[in-house]
Amino acid sequence: MKYVVILGDGMADYKIEKLGNKTPLQVAKKPNMDFIAKNGICGMLKTIPDGFEPGSDVANLSILGYDVKKCYTGRAPIEAASMGINLKDDDVAFRCNFITEENEILKDYSAGHITNEEGRILINLLNEKLSDKLKEINGKFYAGVSYRNIFVCNVKNINPKNIVCVPPHNIIGQKIEKNLIIAKNNKEENFVKILNNIMLKSLEILEESEINTKRKKEGKNLANMIWLWGQGKKPEIQLFKEKYGLNGAVISAGDLIKGIGKLTGMDVINVEGATGLWNTNYDGKADACINALKDHDFVYVHVEATDEAGHAGDLNLKILCIENLDRMIGKILREIKENKIAAKIAVLPDHPTPINIKTHTSDPVPFAIYNGNKNDNVEKFDEEECKKGKYVENFMEILLE
Ligand SMILES: [Zn+2]
Repeated sequence: MKYVVILGDGMADYKIEKLGNKTPLQVAKKPNMDFIAKNGICGMLKTIPDGFEPGSDVANLSILGYDVKKCYTGRAPIEAASMGINLKDDDVAFRCNFITEENEILKDYSAGHITNEEGRILINLLNEKLSDKLKEINGKFYAGVSYRNIFVCNVKNINPKNIVCVPPHNIIGQKIEKNLIIAKNNKEENFVKILNNIMLKSLEILEESEINTKRKKEGKNLANMIWLWGQGKKPEIQLFKEKYGLNGAVISAGDLIKGIGKLTGMDVINVEGATGLWNTNYDGKADACINALKDHDFVYVHVEATDEAGHAGDLNLKILCIENLDRMIGKILREIKENKIAAKIAVLPDHPTPINIKTHTSDPVPFAIYNGNKNDNVEKFDEEECKKGKYVENFMEILLE
């Protein structure tokens, strides 16, 4: 048996008044997801263990059956792995967003989805202009995809769990000053002071850069500040193959899922034109999935677009992204049928990113696993209908049973 898991990031939502008290999943035309729900096992899945922030990192590790209480150290070390950054034992990695600051307020956590090329130039500028401050903590910036970069530093006797960083997508419209990094212990106080200093100093440096002068003229959101969060040291994670005896592959545009792939020893398959945005290459991802099934038992296909639409609070875009994702699933279903591959195909989000609150929540998510049988009364794939199925906390157990 082969397994395909299709993950629509942040796809679940709440009932929306404008939609007649329905969710985007209930309104979107998604015959293929509904087909999976109708001919498989459905239910609601708890993806965020108690005490954890509802991040895609925690949610996806949980879905893959990893005990985040034991293996999770933070989001940034996972992304660092994906970018090929080898963390030393006492290195601390941070996610470093480019953000848009306006009148001392955090306006955009993504700096208008700045391009990779622009980002790379700005990261080089920061490494150069901040070099004195960076030396104090052996710090270095690494350019990633769009606004998502990594900062690594190395200070003796620092515990990253003792400092509190706020994810920038949670504080849109709020004062920068009130959301700076906080130390829980005296020992980390000086370290935190340096980090905050670097963030504030980045505003002066980036604001004046040529790239931002150009972006201003074009009416685009500026990438005029960095935001550090998601910190942690190198995690210890059991290999997927060791855990399940399956050859796994991941397909994603995002560094986070690629990082989980690398850390768990799965093959990371890159798809040209996979952007992590609404216009991502759905067809390419479907083809890559089918191709990967030739020499893998387990393929994890992650699509970020639905989450980005949720963060943007763009209802129509979210519905469109669900429908696009559904077409991708349709292609995978057809190919699997035509090639007579014995496979279970699952669809689920990692967490809700409700349009009305524009950020992640910890609510259980609907899941559906196609196995060619009708197992319950669930006829459609959405937050309400799937409640008729099972309530589970271990997705892999259900998938592999
Ligand atoms: Zn998100």
